[in-house]
Amino acid sequence: MTASPVTAPLVRFAPSPTGMIHIGNARTALVNWLFALARGGRFILRFDDTDRERSRQEFIDGIATDLDWLGIRPHQVFHQSRRTALYDAAADRLRASGRLYPCYEAADELDRRRRRQLARGLPPIYDRAALALTAEDRARLEAEGRRPHWRFKLDGRSVAWTDLTRGPQHVDTTSLSDPVLVREDGSYLYTFTSVVDDIDMGITHVIRGEDHVTNTGVQIEIIEALGGAVPTLAHHNLIASVTGEALSKRLGSLSVRSLRDAGYEAMTVASLAVLVGTAEQVHAYPDLETLAHHLDLGRVSTSTAKFDPHELDLLNGSIVHGLAYSAVADRLAAMGINGGEPLWNAIRANCARLDDARTLAAIVEGAPTPVAAADDEPMLAIARELLPDEPWDEATWGAWTDKVKAATGRKGKGLFMPLRRALTGLDHGPELKLLLPLIGRYNSLARLSGPFSRPA
Ligand code: GLU
Repeated sequence: MTASPVTAPLVRFAPSPTGMIHIGNARTALVNWLFALARGGRFILRFDDTDRERSRQEFIDGIATDLDWLGIRPHQVFHQSRRTALYDAAADRLRASGRLYPCYEAADELDRRRRRQLARGLPPIYDRAALALTAEDRARLEAEGRRPHWRFKLDGRSVAWTDLTRGPQHVDTTSLSDPVLVREDGSYLYTFTSVVDDIDMGITHVIRGEDHVTNTGVQIEIIEALGGAVPTLAHHNLIASVTGEALSKRLGSLSVRSLRDAGYEAMTVASLAVLVGTAEQVHAYPDLETLAHHLDLGRVSTSTAKFDPHELDLLNGSIVHGLAYSAVADRLAAMGINGGEPLWNAIRANCARLDDARTLAAIVEGAPTPVAAADDEPMLAIARELLPDEPWDEATWGAWTDKVKAATGRKGKGLFMPLRRALTGLDHGPELKLLLPLIGRYNSLARLSGPFSRPA
């Protein structure tokens, strides 16, 4: 037997542009991207924009920008709103085979029926009353000005697949309403257009959130009714806040854009979005190629992933501390920080976000107010006298403070804290042996001379 050739995967991320994407949507996008990246595959970005009322160009643009910031570079981009002819043809085939049937019930009629069913203890599923309509009934309804919406007639069976994350799955479509695929205004629902596109584009793997598991049962029936091949499926768990609330697209604070604006690194957001709620330890990886090696759909948990903003801060710190100067030079320059690599190397261990560089660089490049307690002033005067001549390097701090120690009898915190406060105006901060040569002799002399403000 010859092994069948392994084809590179073709995946897609298919957001509905009805809002900005949040960290949960980013998880879906990234998992698809990394899955393809690790296997030499390709990634399609497809905007599910058939909902004319709610889809907006600003969200299309915003989502594209967010994905780009995360490092996702789609091989192709499609808009469903431009592919109507394809959907029309597929819908006609389903009509011809009797799987798509017209219905005329108004929303309030359906609602009344659902409530009656519930009151009688019956499942609130569509009763298929429209299937009994004759051609005359339809003509009469249309003469009254009614326009049909179209439902897909489910087989009503156990639809099964083997999910890359959840293992063997089945959805019993007898317990579901026949889904509406075409709205009254003739526009299509993504339940249908996704399937038509997945078949047309030859998508090999559909990877999306577990909120779509039931849809998958329905969509497999539609794929089969259209004669398409069912792709490999994976449904990852969703991300909820630590308090268990589901994330909605409108949850502003966790939108990718707001995380970017808050100064988090793209790899912090990506690492957390991908690894939270998996058997892998959440660790901030430096780039997507590395992160891709840590994504295993089989090790994604089936329970909800809990998103903790505190974790984002910790991860971000560990990423920023490891950033080489070349990776941040442009961004530092844009913040007006000019101290180059030596300054970055002095401050990076103290930056939880790159933005912190602003405050820390000001210790060197700005004019901090020296701070000193009254009884530290005499020792600062001695320290000033003992300042060595330049050139200064990392050894200067140690040599100088040894002399100050010998001359004043001060040691430990009693020696270092007054020097730190006078030189930087702060109680904490980057290592002084790195800062001192950057502050330089001229500024150090001035800062050690006061005038001082008193410690808080
Ligand atoms: N537009 C759908 C959504 O955002 C796509 C679902 C799918 O991936 O098929 O939920």
